[in-house]
Amino acid sequence: MRELISPMAQMLKSREISSVELTEKYISAIEQDNKKYNAYVSTTFEKAIENAKNADDMLSRGEGNLLTGIPMTLKDNICSDGDLTTCASKILTGFRPYYDSTVWSKLKAQGAVMLGKTNMDEFAMGSTSETSYYGAPLNPRNVEHVTGGSSGGGAAAVCANLAPYALGSDTGGSVRQPASFCGIVGLKPTYGAVSRYGLIAYGSSLDQIGVLANSVKDSAIVFDTISGVDENDQTSVDFDFGSIADSLDEMDVKGLKIGIAKEYFEGINDEMKSAILDAVKLFEDNGAEIIDISLPVLKQALPVYYIIACAEASSNLGRYDGIRYGYRPESFNDVEEMILKTRTEGFGDEVKRRIMLGTYVLSSGYYDAYYKKACLLRENLIADFDEIFNTCDVLIAPTAPNTAFPLNFSGASPVDMYLSDIATVPINITGVPAISVPVKNDSNSLPIGMQIIGKKFSEKTIMQCAYFFEKNAETDIEEFKGGVVL
Ligand code: GLN
Repeated sequence: MRELISPMAQMLKSREISSVELTEKYISAIEQDNKKYNAYVSTTFEKAIENAKNADDMLSRGEGNLLTGIPMTLKDNICSDGDLTTCASKILTGFRPYYDSTVWSKLKAQGAVMLGKTNMDEFAMGSTSETSYYGAPLNPRNVEHVTGGSSGGGAAAVCANLAPYALGSDTGGSVRQPASFCGIVGLKPTYGAVSRYGLIAYGSSLDQIGVLANSVKDSAIVFDTISGVDENDQTSVDFDFGSIADSLDEMDVKGLKIGIAKEYFEGINDEMKSAILDAVKLFEDNGAEIIDISLPVLKQALPVYYIIACAEASSNLGRYDGIRYGYRPESFNDVEEMILKTRTEGFGDEVKRRIMLGTYVLSSGYYDAYYKKACLLRENLIADFDEIFNTCDVLIAPTAPNTAFPLNFSGASPVDMYLSDIATVPINITGVPAISVPVKNDSNSLPIGMQIIGKKFSEKTIMQCAYFFEKNAETDIEEFKGGVVL
C-alpha cells in the first residue's frame, strides 16, 4: 500500500509545499467529495489553517517530527478543545468539550493539522456506522456498501484521500473492521498503550484509541507519537516501544512462529479463507513456522463482549441527563420528565438497546448469572491467549467473517450484526494488540482484511509482520484515485 506520511514530510521539509498549501488541498477535496461519502460530520477548517501556519513556523525552525504540518482527523468521540464532539448522537448536539484529549495534545504539540471530526456509529455502537445520527458514511470502494464501523467515517476519509490518517476508537473492532472494509490499515494498540483521556467512554475496560492509515509505516509513525503513559489515564502503561517506524525492516521472518486457530476460520466463506491462508503461505515460504492451534473459548468471546460492553455502556451513558451536556427537550414539567425526555429523544434505538441490555445484566438477580459469569470467562480467555503466546509469536486470522455489507443490511437483525464481530472482540476482551492489513479483493471487488495479533505490548512485532506482508504480497486492491493525490 501507499506510504503517505514520510513522502509528505519530505515535501514539507524541502519546502516543495507548505503546510498551509497542503491543508488547503485537503479542504477543497473535502468540500468537493464529502457529500459523496459523508465521512466528516463537522469540519474545523479555520483552526486547520491556524494549525498549518503554526506548523510552517515549526518547520522553518527545524522543529517537530514526521507529522508536523500533515493534516489528519479525529473520530467524533475524541475531544478537542472548543470543537464539536458529538459521538454522532443527537444527545450530544452542539457539545464542545473544553479540553483536549491526550492524543490530540500530543499530535498538536508536533504540529499536526486537524481537519475535522469523522462519522461513526452512535456512541461507537455498531459495525456499519449506519447508527450515526448524521446518516451512514459510504464506502469509497463501492458506495452501495457500508464503510464498516464504528470508525467508518475515518476509514472512508483515509481511503478516499480526504485525510492522510485518522484516529478512531476500537472497543470491539471499530478500527480494524472498517479498515478491512475500506482496504486500508487499522491498528488497535494494547489496552493501556495509548491514553484514553478525552475519548468519550463506551466500554472503558475495552476502549482503545487506534490508527487508520494507508500503510503500516504511516500507522507506526502515528503510533510512535500518540503512545505512552499519561497521568490523566490511570490505565495507561509506561512501556518503552522505541521507534517502531524506524525498525519495521528489522524482523527476520525465518523462524517466526505463526499460530492459526481453526475456530477463527469457521463460518467464513471459502474465498476469504483461501485469501488469508494464501497470505499465511507467504510467511511460510519465507521460513515462518505455522502452528495449528485450537482456541475453543473463542466461541464464548461474543457473549462475553456483549455483556461486558453493554454493562459498562449502561453505566458510562448514565451521565447524559440533559443537565450537563448537549441536547435538552424544549418542554418538561419537572426534572424527572426532563431527564426522561432527554434520553428518550436524544438516544437512537441501538444505544437504547445496549443501555437496556447492560442494565439488565447488572441488575440484582441477573448480575451473577450474566455479568459475573462474563467476567470469569474473560479471565479464561486471557489465560488461553497467554498460553498461545507462550508458543506463538503472532496469530493470524481474518479481521471479519465478511467483506463490506450492502447498505441497510443491519436493518435485518441486531444479532446478525453482533455475530459479525466474532473475529475482532476477543482482542479487546484480552487487551492484546492487533493490526488489520488489506489482503486482496473478493469476487465483488470488496477488500478482504487480515488481522495480525500479538501478545500485550508486542506492537513492534505485529507491525513488522504487517510491514513484511505489505511489502511482499501481491494485491489487486488498487490505490484510490480521487481526493488529494500528490
Ligand atoms: N461492533 C462492536 C460494537 O458494536 C464494536 C464497536 C467498537 O469497537 N466501538 O460494540
